[in-house]
Order: sequence, then structure tokens, then C-alpha cells
Amino acid sequence: MAKWVYLFKEGSAEMKNLLGGKGSNLAEMTNLGLPIPQGFTVTTEACTDYYDQGEKISDEIQGQIFDALAELEKIQGKKFGDTADPLLVSVRSGARASMPGMMDTILNLGLNDEAVEGFANKTGNPRFAYDSYRRFIQMFSDVVMEMSKTFFEGILDEIKEAKGAEFDTDLTADDLKEVIGRFKSIYKDKMGAEFPQDPKVQLMEAVKAVFRSWDNPRAIVYRRMNDIPGDWGTAVNVQAMVFGNMGDTSGTGVAFTRNPSTGANGIFGEYLINAQGEDVVAGIRTPLPITRMEEDLPDCYKQFMEIAHKLEDHYRDMQDMEFTIQEGTLYFLQTRSGKRTAPAAIKIACDLVDEGKITPQEAITRLDAKSLDQLLHPTFKVEALKAGEVIGSALPASPGAAAGKVYFTADDAKNAGDRGERVILVRLETSPEDIEGMHAAKGILTVRGGMTSHAAVVARGMGTACVSGCGEIKIDEEAKVFELGGHKIIEGDYISLDGSTGKIYLGDIETQEASVGGDFGRIMGWADEFRTLKVRTNADTPADTANAVKLGAEGIGLCRTEHMFFDEERIPKIRKMILSDTQEAREEALNELIPFQKADFKGMYEVLEGRPMTIRFLDPPLHEFIPTKDEDIEALAKDMGLTVAQVKATCDSLHEFNPMMGHRGCRLAVTYPEIAKMQTRAVMEAAIEVKNEKGFDIVPEIMIPLVGEKKELKFVKDVVVEVAEAVKKEKGSDIQYTVGTMIEIPRAALLADEIAEEADFFSFGTNDLTQMTFGFSRDDAGKFLDAYYKSKIYESDPFARLDQNGVGQLVEMAAKKGRQAKSNLKLGICGEHGGDPSSVEFCHKIGLDYVSCSPFRVPIARLAAAQANLNSK
Ligand code: ADP
Ligand code: MG
Ligand code: MG
Repeated sequence: MAKWVYLFKEGSAEMKNLLGGKGSNLAEMTNLGLPIPQGFTVTTEACTDYYDQGEKISDEIQGQIFDALAELEKIQGKKFGDTADPLLVSVRSGARASMPGMMDTILNLGLNDEAVEGFANKTGNPRFAYDSYRRFIQMFSDVVMEMSKTFFEGILDEIKEAKGAEFDTDLTADDLKEVIGRFKSIYKDKMGAEFPQDPKVQLMEAVKAVFRSWDNPRAIVYRRMNDIPGDWGTAVNVQAMVFGNMGDTSGTGVAFTRNPSTGANGIFGEYLINAQGEDVVAGIRTPLPITRMEEDLPDCYKQFMEIAHKLEDHYRDMQDMEFTIQEGTLYFLQTRSGKRTAPAAIKIACDLVDEGKITPQEAITRLDAKSLDQLLHPTFKVEALKAGEVIGSALPASPGAAAGKVYFTADDAKNAGDRGERVILVRLETSPEDIEGMHAAKGILTVRGGMTSHAAVVARGMGTACVSGCGEIKIDEEAKVFELGGHKIIEGDYISLDGSTGKIYLGDIETQEASVGGDFGRIMGWADEFRTLKVRTNADTPADTANAVKLGAEGIGLCRTEHMFFDEERIPKIRKMILSDTQEAREEALNELIPFQKADFKGMYEVLEGRPMTIRFLDPPLHEFIPTKDEDIEALAKDMGLTVAQVKATCDSLHEFNPMMGHRGCRLAVTYPEIAKMQTRAVMEAAIEVKNEKGFDIVPEIMIPLVGEKKELKFVKDVVVEVAEAVKKEKGSDIQYTVGTMIEIPRAALLADEIAEEADFFSFGTNDLTQMTFGFSRDDAGKFLDAYYKSKIYESDPFARLDQNGVGQLVEMAAKKGRQAKSNLKLGICGEHGGDPSSVEFCHKIGLDYVSCSPFRVPIARLAAAQANLNSK
């Protein structure tokens, strides 16, 4: 027979997967001999079983629950359901990972109309007994029956007011009886039945409610955000009650062994006299700082501090503890490694190493890589923010704080930026043509668009704060004014944005830069020591490259050359190329672009100082470059000696039904080899010149996108090699270079062994590979993925977290096949996944050489790579 229920004394901290975090720590503390009210844990497997049985608790599990209850009765010397001296319990959820948003705790379970009388007699404290019962009714109705809290709070407030009571502690036993009467009648009113009087029914209903809460919408969202699998399930803890609401020598509180916001070493917490459970966090009465306990209850305080130190030493981490004092006796109700801000996490990790409590390796594995994001962007100065007025909020699309003057067009933003102003670009939505204005901006605010909109993706790449999708804004781009939260903001007015919270503030709030030195630098140093996977960055300007190098990038894994063409001066030239109908005319237009492209590459090679750079040749469908505004079309027609109608007709002819799968990637180079020629020349000349001028050892890596067939790669590669060799000869250089390909089409993954024969390296373009494997596009998936999460078909966004089962299989297979064909084939990944910790771990496992991600995610990837390596040992 399977074991579904464990008494606290039967468990241990190692059994976290089975008993959940709370349960395994209660067991561990019991074994340490600490004062823990005893109880038992119903396992996470029982939760999974509950779902497997169609949301039913099997007879076997019920049987084991009541057996454990009988054991608990023996330990406590009281009977559950007894009317003279009842055993009361709490029912508490507890998953493997602590999950806010799951079920609230139920206290005082086991009381009913009769038992409350016995309880009052036995304790000689009727006020306390009725207070406990009214709390139980309130919690049970809210948590188990999902009745709105407001019914009960309303009644309580009414009676408090009628009795002239400021706090609930001012109510007498009789007042509380009245409260209970009204609670019960509203329960009957809303639920159509009496409040359940049978304690066994109360208990089983509560256990079921915990299991159900595993799948409530808040919990599902939280799991998706934190990579927690849906099949883990939650455990349920049933624990004998101790009472903090018995009078002035009783109380309850929470405390951390170190400050969770700053990391400072020293006790930090609050407690409340004559209170139960959630009163401390509920904010009904103002709690006292924990240090006040030293005066009020000195013996308890001394014992509390001893245990707190013992727990921190035992777990060798900052602890978050919950405790209750019942008439002068201290009980611990929970301990766990405390949640902390990113700065605190870094400080605590370094301090614990310095105190000799943990090794640098442990410090690294414990950090939450994703949270480093918080450290790398500017933040508002705390004092300055206090005075800030929030005028609206929308999606936190790209983290960081920004303040500046509002501009409504990319041109105005750029000009203001050139004048040295701090700029906030406000747009209905952004498009590739806005790129320069976005670059000039400290922050971007859009009315439309979600977390994967153009503005969001580009802003994240640039590390610029962005708040997107603020539908409440009324904007008039022509008149250069917008309205939000009752304020009218005109061009040149100051606003401030917080891209980490989505808040929009009035005025100019002072920001402070992130710092990458100190403890952060130490952590990164350790991470570099412990990782084998290299970390590159995706960048296509010298400025972004310099920033990425500062953040530890070891090279560029993806330089997207098309981004270089959107510049004001260049876009007319590429448009001219696209609209030319002879090869000569195209070549002529392209030749004008060479100096620009070459200058970009030179700038980047200089910043890289010999670090490698993979340059991807032109990838997007050409129509992304064609003009849409009348004035641009007219200018182009004039430049080319065509009529406006002719230009429009050619533009129309470029329309594609499905551009994502259309005329793009290496297909452009197959139809117009001159594009690849121009780009090769620009790369080679730049590399040779910087090599000669600065003495860096440069080996250009030229990458052909969207290849699906070996012959296709060979065709383009031949063009590249021919020009590269010609340039070498012209310049009298013996520079080495490599030619490789993206693997981003499923067919390329399938035929990776053949393709490897023509490739020096593979770079997995997991954005496209995900689109093509799933058969849905990144730009459209947002519309239906939510329904998939709700229906539990998919748990996470495959564009954010690599789908290891499906897409990952293609990656792994292609890596293997590629290396079989060519053992020294270099392998990397350059999709958005390159900065996602769980995807980085996967890349480490399958033996890739490097991951490449946007500059601001480089530290995250460095840490995640070290964690992957340490965890695999
Ligand atoms: P959460 O996970 O939301 O912190 P808990 O299960 O820890 O929920 O319960 C919240 C609070 O309820 C505890 O901190 C404690 O104050 C109180 N509580 C829970 N169980 C008991 C108990 N057996 N006796 C007294 N108080 C309890
Ligand atoms: Mg708790
Ligand atoms: Mg691609």
C-alpha cells in the first residue's frame, strides 16, 4: 500500500518533493527538537492522485488521513470533534516551491456550535473561544466555499462600529457571539445550507480545497512565470493549533534572519500581540518591530533568537520564519529560505561565503538567475520616487526606470537626443522605421502592443525601459499631445516610466545607474570560473556591443545586418536596390551601401578587441524596407526617375501572403547574389583593416540564414568565398574566415549531417525554429496561447522558454548529426532563448559551445551557465 500521509516526525528536509517545502521543513524542525505544534502532511502525490481520480480523494488516502489524525490525537491528548475539549487544527497548503497565489490557510478547524462552548469553558476564556470560531467561519467560507471576504468583513465592521470598538480585539465575547450568528446566517443565505458542523467534513473539504487551489488561475500564472511544472502538485499540512489570540502574553509574527530588501545581517521582522495568523500581514493593526519583543517578552525573545540562529546555521541560508506565542510559550510554525530582492540576494550570498557558511559554488547555485535583470537597469532613487505621482500603468515590457521629455515621432526623438536631452518616445505603436528614435530614447511608451510587440522586443534588446499597451492613453500624434489620468502632456513635458512595473509617472523623477562592481562583480567572477558554456551577445551597433562586453559578453553570436539599413541615410539606398530591375542597377545601389556597412563592422570589430563576431547576412523579406508614407514614395520615385505609380506598383508586387515563409533569408541571396557579395566585401574589408590597424586577431564568421538544404548553402557560400578571396588578394591579406549557417528550419535540423559538410558552424535560430516547428508565428501566438495555458495544453510560452520536448529534440539531433559529420563544428544558439536560464541549462546539457542573448541578459546567461555546469556534477 502506498504511503500518502506522513507525521511530522516521519519526514525530513530531503523529502521536499513529496512533502512540499512547508511540510518538509516542519518535519526537519521537529527532528531538530524545536517547539513545533505537531501534525501530519498529505503528500504531493496524493494531490496528483486527486486529479487523476477526477478530483476525488480515494478511500485509501482518506483512511490514512484519519489514521494520522488519530496519532495526532494521542500526541496532543485531545480528541478531534470532542465537544468538551476539542483538538483544533490548521490546514495549510505547501508546494515544493513556495507559491504565492495558492490557497490561504484555515485556522481553528474542528470548531462548531457545541465545541465552541466546551472550548470556552475549558480555556476559561470565552472571548478567545468565540474569536477563534468567528475566524474559522470566515476563513472556511472564504477559502473552501469561495464566498467573498467582503460579506464577513462588512459584518465585522458594522458590529465594531455599533459597539464603538476600534479594533477587533476590543470586541467582547457577547459581541463576538453576535458576529458568529450573523456570519452563519449569511453563510446559509449564500450557500443554501447550514455552516458544516461535522469536523470530519470540515477537514476533508479543506483538504480538497488545498488540492483545488493548485489549479486556480493565479497559481497557473505564477507557475508559468516561474517555470514550475503543473504536475508537481501541492502537499497539505494538518497541524495542531497553538493560539496567539489568548491575551497579552500571546501573539504572532514573522521574521527574517537578514534584511530581505538590503541583505543586511540582523533580525528583521514584526509581531502582533493577541493576534492570530494572517493579522500581521493583513495590516488591520500595526505590528511592532520584532526587537520590541525583547522588552515585552524577554524570555521568548531570547529563545526566539537562539532558534533563529540555529535555523540559519542549519540551513546555511537566510531564513523567513513564522512563529506564535501562546501565553508566554514560543512555537515555530514555519521556516524557509527567505525570498529577497536581487541586491539582497547578491549581498547575502557573498556574506555567507565570507562567513564560511557556504562555498562560492553553493552561492552560485542558489541565486535566481532571472532576478539579475533587476540589477542591470537604472532604477528610480527611492526618495525621489516617494514624491512621484502615478498617472497610469500598462505592461512592464522592458525593465528599467527612465525619465525625460516626451516626443511623439522618431525624428523628433532623435533630434532631441542629439541636442543632449533625455527623451521619452511616445507612440501609438512602433515600427522598424522608428529604430533611431527608439535608440535615442531613455524610455518608450506605446498605446498599443503587448509584451512581444515590436516596441517591447526591440526595447528589451537595447536595454531601454518600455511600457507598452497603455490603452487608456488618448493620443494625438499630429498635435503632439496625449492625455492620461486626467493630465494633458504636450511635447517637451517631462514624464517618467518604470519598465519593471509598468507604471507611468508625472514629471522628472531622478534615476540612478546600475552598478556592476562590488558583490555583483564577485558573483560574476565565480560564475565565469564555474561555467564551460561561452556567452555571446546579439548586437548590431558598436554602442550595444560595448555595453555587452562590459556585461561580460565574449563575442557577438548574432549581428543582424538588416538593422543597419533602417538609418535615414541608408534606407533610400536599399529601397533603390529593391526597386531596380537590372543586376547592374542593383549592384550600383548596393555599392553605395558598402561604405556604411563596412564602417559599422569596423566599429564593432574595434569594440570587440579580437572577440569573435558572427555576422548574419540579410534575412527579412524585402518588403519590410519599402516605403509606406507618400512622401517617402515620392522621394524614391524622384531619385529613380520613375513615376509614383510605378513605384507603388513595384511595392505592391513585393506583397507576400506569408512573409515569414516567403522571399527571405538565403533565398534573397539565391535570387540576388549581389546582396551577399556586397555584404561579404563589407565584412572582409572591415576585418582586414581593423586587423591591420589595431593588431586584433580577427576571424570573421559569416552566417547564412534560413538554410534548408546543403546545395542552397553551397550556392551562397560559393558567392561568399569568391568575393572573400578576391578581397584578400586585393588587400594582400591572409586573414582566415569561416562560413556557417543558421539552423532554423526543421528540414535543416533533419539534414544537419549533410549541411555540416558545407558549414564551419551552426547557430540555432530558435525563434524561427520554434515558429516553424509549432506552425504558429510569434506575432500571432499571443492571441491564442492564453487559451492554451488555461486549458493546460501548453504551460509556457515556447518563444520565451525553449520547448525542450519538441524543438529541443530538433536542436539536440542537429547538434549530434552535425558533429558526427564534422567533429570540430562550432555550435551556438542565438534565439531569444539564449538568455533564458532553463534554456541555457538545456544548451549546456546537449554540449553547445555558446549561447548568445541580448546585452542585458548576458549576466543572466553567465550565471545560468555556471549553475547548469554545477548542477550537472
Ligand atoms: P502561508 O503559506 O500563506 O504563509 P501558512 O500555512 O504559513 O500560510 O499560515 C499562515 C499563518 O497562519 C502562519 O504564519 C501562522 O501564523 C498561522 N498558523 C498556521 N498554522 C497554525 C497553527 N497550527 N497554529 C497557529 N497558527 C497557525
Ligand atoms: Mg507561512
Ligand atoms: Mg530567423
